[in-house]
Parts: sequence; structure tokens; C-alpha cells
Amino acid sequence: MTKKAPLVVANWKLNGGTDLICTSVASIRNQNFNVQVGIAPPYVYISELVTFLRNSPIMVGSQNVSKFESGAFTGETSAQMLKEVGCQFCLIGHSERRQVFLENSESCRTKVERALAAGVMPIICIGENAQQYEMGLTRDILYRQLHHTLEGLSLNGQSLAVAYEPVWAIGTGRAASVEVVGEVHQFIFDELVVMLGEDANSVQILYGGSVKKDNAAELLAIDHVDGLLVGGASLDPEHFVQICRVA
Ligand code: PGA
Repeated sequence: MTKKAPLVVANWKLNGGTDLICTSVASIRNQNFNVQVGIAPPYVYISELVTFLRNSPIMVGSQNVSKFESGAFTGETSAQMLKEVGCQFCLIGHSERRQVFLENSESCRTKVERALAAGVMPIICIGENAQQYEMGLTRDILYRQLHHTLEGLSLNGQSLAVAYEPVWAIGTGRAASVEVVGEVHQFIFDELVVMLGEDANSVQILYGGSVKKDNAAELLAIDHVDGLLVGGASLDPEHFVQICRVA
């Protein structure tokens, strides 16, 4: 399977509303990008965004998904529900979910299985924190997060992406250097080959953490960087469009 166009995903986190939806749709809808673009708004805005982006190639996704399918789980949203409202992808295991909501690689694994079963592309977020980075533990942490989440999985032709987001680079304005991203993405690709064999070639590996219009091109030029996950800069529609344009 060959790799697709680079994937640039906006992660709005707990931000935005109808105003941001309208301005983003107006800025992005009629553009011709060389990248595949995705937007992940808060759950409640997904349907509205899907409606606005109907007949456009821009994908809509969610920032999370439940590990449960249905039942007495107040506040949860299942992969099947996301599929039904038009979600094409979902983020899984974002560092804020792991830190604030105590998600672990085990629950991420279940979420990946649920998303794949529903036909929603999982984007699995992994990354080390500042202390782990300083201690030279990046590979150990990523190895564990990757293997717990993906070992033994069969993709059966379905899409999957992994986002490397060093926690120390998220929202700090300090993106990882080209050298660090190059080394880490090569490491992630090698581990994907070990776990998934041939299927590894179809997995897109995104970088996230203080991506801006000024560093997007150099990040995308790195080997095994197949896309970007953009937080803060995606809340400014014009800025996000410029990031999508650099590829
Ligand atoms: P940032 O966030 O672009 O604001 O650093 C990225 C993310 O958390 O996905």
C-alpha cells in the first residue's frame, strides 16, 4: 500500500464554537491544497461542521472516542456514533487525555480497536514529557506506548495514523528540532515495521507540538513526517490555511 498525501489535522481542543466553525469553513472550504486536511472540533460541533463541509475533501474528526460500545456510561460517545455523524478520524491518547483524564495505553488500545471496527481512522498520539526527554527516555516511552497500543493489530486495509507529540513541545512555542523529529520518526517507523510488517508503509506518522506556518514546511520535509497535528495555530483560520498551503 502506498502512502497518501500528507495529512494536516487541526485539534481545536476545548475551544471554538459556531463562530470559529463559520470563519474556518469560509477560509478553508474552497481552497485547493496538496495535503489532506482534517478538523477535530469539540464533539458537539461535529455535525454542524460535517454539514458545512459536505462535498468538500476536508475531513471532520473527533478528539476522543469511548472505549465502550454502548450502555450505562454517562458522558461517553462511541466510535459507531462518531461514524454515524460523519467523523472520518478520531484522535486517541492525546497527552492531555493521558495526563488530565488518566488514560493509559491499555484503554487506547481498546479505543483503536473500536475505531477500526466502526470504520473511523484512529490517530494515536504518543510522546514523552520534558523530564523523560531530559533523561534520554524518549525511545523507551514511545516503544511502550506504541507496542501496548498496536502490537498484534491487523489493519486489513484500514487507515491508521500515529502522531508524535513531545509533551514539552505542546503549546510551548518550542517545537522539537528537525534532528529530533527526524530521529524519532525513523524510530517510530522502524517499530511499526516490526509490529505491522508491510502495513507499516500505509501508516501516516504526524508531528505535533508548536507547529506554525513558519516551521510547517521544514517539518514536512523530514523523512517519515507524513503530516502535522496543529493545536493553537489552528484556532486562527488564516494561520491554519497557511500551514496547509506550505505543503
Ligand atoms: P500545539 O498543540 O500546536 O498548540 O502545540 C498540539 C496538540 O496538542 O495537538
